[in-house]
Amino acid sequence: MFDINTILRENIKNLKPYSSARDEFQGEASVYLDANENAFGSPLEQNYNRYPDPLQYSVKKRLSEIKGVPPRNIFLGNGSDEAIDILFRSFCNPGADNVILVPPTYGMYEVSANINDVETRKVNLTDEYQLNLDGIAEAIDKNTKLIFICSPNNPTGNSINREDIETLLTNFKGLVVVDEAYINFSRQKTFIQELTEYANLVVLQTLSKAWGLAALRVGMAFASEEIIEVMNKVKPPYNINEASQQLALQALQNVEQVNQWIKDTLTERDQLVLNLKAFDFVLDIYPSDANFILVKTTDAKGIYNYLVSHGIIVRDRSKVELCEGALRFTIGTPEENKTLLNTLKEYKA
Ligand SMILES: *Cc1c(COP(=O)(O)O)cnc(C)c1O
Repeated sequence: MFDINTILRENIKNLKPYSSARDEFQGEASVYLDANENAFGSPLEQNYNRYPDPLQYSVKKRLSEIKGVPPRNIFLGNGSDEAIDILFRSFCNPGADNVILVPPTYGMYEVSANINDVETRKVNLTDEYQLNLDGIAEAIDKNTKLIFICSPNNPTGNSINREDIETLLTNFKGLVVVDEAYINFSRQKTFIQELTEYANLVVLQTLSKAWGLAALRVGMAFASEEIIEVMNKVKPPYNINEASQQLALQALQNVEQVNQWIKDTLTERDQLVLNLKAFDFVLDIYPSDANFILVKTTDAKGIYNYLVSHGIIVRDRSKVELCEGALRFTIGTPEENKTLLNTLKEYKA
């Protein structure tokens, strides 16, 4: 049985969270003189003079309808990057605890660990970019608090085998964090329906990728009520600004547009893979469940520089272990992908 108290930091367990004016009084009133705001308004067309809802209820209610998860199981962060940082600050004692990372994977887990002075234990993915469960079991000790699994994985693009993640969820006494930033593009099922099954599960999603709102900085964590309560206690009181809350809520009415873009992206991805295979400098294209592809080439640096000189920026992942020679291409619009292909046709090693 998972018990949150066995992994929670003592200072967080005892933390009395900041109490804002809007925490003290909830409800409707006609005169607000409680928060030292500018009562006259904002020097803008729209007023932003009032502090935003600290728990972002309207956005969560709409997300709850879309995701089928109650608002009490949803945390919103200033990007999922904030959710990742808050997990470290809530559960990992600096200089004492450790987390498991499974590279090649998203770089932010390690940066966040380093900022928080938390040891990272790296267990590389296998040659098929899947989990090395034996290696992970060996790396875990009594101070291991979190395991980060990114699925579909960045930068490899593939999904991690579901049964392997379930094995971790069943056997690990800490939190298993499944980062589903690219889930909208995946053929695999999300883990957010499994929250009642696994008390140690945290699922991360974001509005930054398929939803097209990277600049608004809205990330989501889905977890048990007790985990969400801890995260809410640790977060800065007004971590999602009012403009982002309003625009996110508006965007979340537009599911059809987003679903159409997802379909278009997948069509474009399949087409791009077919076309790239024809180039002799392309050695391999890894199967992708995301809106990008990892392409193994004969000369990553040369192709990267060549593309830059033509105004096209891709991601050079060739220095990453297990990604030797690889470039990561985000799927663009049909026009952009055509430009990429036409430019590559002129490439000479
Ligand atoms: C892009 C990405 C995110 C998104 O981070 P935000 O802070 O929500 O923009 C999270 N995880 C992975 C693996 C990503 O690639």
